[in-house]
Amino acid sequence: MVSDFKTPIYLLGIRPLLQPLARAMNTPAPESFTEPARAVPVAWRGDLCVVGGSCTGVFAAVRAARLGLSVALVEQNAILGGSAVAAQVNEWHSIRDARQDKQIIGGLTIDVIDRLRARDAVREIAPVHRSQFKFNSAELALELDTLIRDHRIRLFLCARLASAVRPGPRVEAAILEDKSGRRALSASVFIDASGDGDLLRRAGFDAWQAPALQPVNLQALVGGFPSLWSAYPGADFWGQIRHLAEAHGLPAANASPWLFDYPGGHGVTNVFGPRLDGTDASDADQLTAALLEGRRLQRAYIDMAREVFPRAPLNVVA
Ligand SMILES: Cc1cc2nc3c(=O)[nH]c(=O)nc-3n(C[C@H](O)[C@H](O)[C@H](O)COP(=O)(O)OP(=O)(O)OC[C@H]3O[C@@H](n4cnc5c(N)ncnc54)[C@H](O)[C@@H]3O)c2cc1C
Repeated sequence: MVSDFKTPIYLLGIRPLLQPLARAMNTPAPESFTEPARAVPVAWRGDLCVVGGSCTGVFAAVRAARLGLSVALVEQNAILGGSAVAAQVNEWHSIRDARQDKQIIGGLTIDVIDRLRARDAVREIAPVHRSQFKFNSAELALELDTLIRDHRIRLFLCARLASAVRPGPRVEAAILEDKSGRRALSASVFIDASGDGDLLRRAGFDAWQAPALQPVNLQALVGGFPSLWSAYPGADFWGQIRHLAEAHGLPAANASPWLFDYPGGHGVTNVFGPRLDGTDASDADQLTAALLEGRRLQRAYIDMAREVFPRAPLNVVA
């Protein structure tokens, strides 16, 4: 009760300020708030607006720019590349068909592979494997920057698509939110390369989600494996640390990490962590929890290895 609020004598002068605070503390927050309507300034207008800056989005934008269209690209992260960069999913599966006898992927994918090869930032894996190319994610992101610059694409980084204006059958504007506030991009055509159908869903188009979801898992770049292999010749990394798995809270199944040399990483190893089954990464709270848990598990591997291989401590480097 506000009337129960007792003010010490030395605070009497600021009592008028404290009373509204006390009232607010005693009032339960409503279940929802209504945002006031507002005019959103147009930050760009042109032919094509692509939402999402993975290779998918960048390649679509570049192709359109090469056809002479004016193009904008919106990316919520500070860096281009999507999962391949932000989540270190640093491999392209085969560019050939399932029988491996016919090349079915070319164009900008091959162009970028060639650019990465020139910088020792990609490694080709023998075609008997499912995966064909492993690349350095940071170098990939730099190549995507170059493509964007070379094609004069208007780039909006750290800019998240917040909503869409769709008064009729087609989208007329994408509303993004960035450091400058809310801004509108007006275009004749929009491409949703968000990976989650964000533009489609916010524009009110029908969307559905498959019942079986790809499990979330996280990668880390880890330094120190070359020292470990030389200090403990013939070490069986997982075989020797797995007895500590339960104590470190690793899941009972699928906990063994995958280890890959990181192209151009000079001794850095790419460690693929365990799958976090049952996470719906399109749910914001589940995504946050999975990111925290995934990072904790990466640290757990390192801690387990430090116990078993103390002469070669490992560190997460990214
Ligand atoms: C650890 C891991 C392992 C995987 N393994 C495999 C595998 O073995 N085989 C396989 O086929 N697939 C695998 N995948 C899935 C595969 O990586 C993705 O399906 C693929 O990368 C999706 O590409 P994309 O371009 O559609 O989306 P993404 O790479 O997710 O790119 C979407 C981009 O849009 C941006 N974006 C999203 N929402 C917004 C918004 N509202 N506003 C602005 N920007 C936005 C994102 O930041 C991102 O840059 C794996 C994924 C992970 C994470």
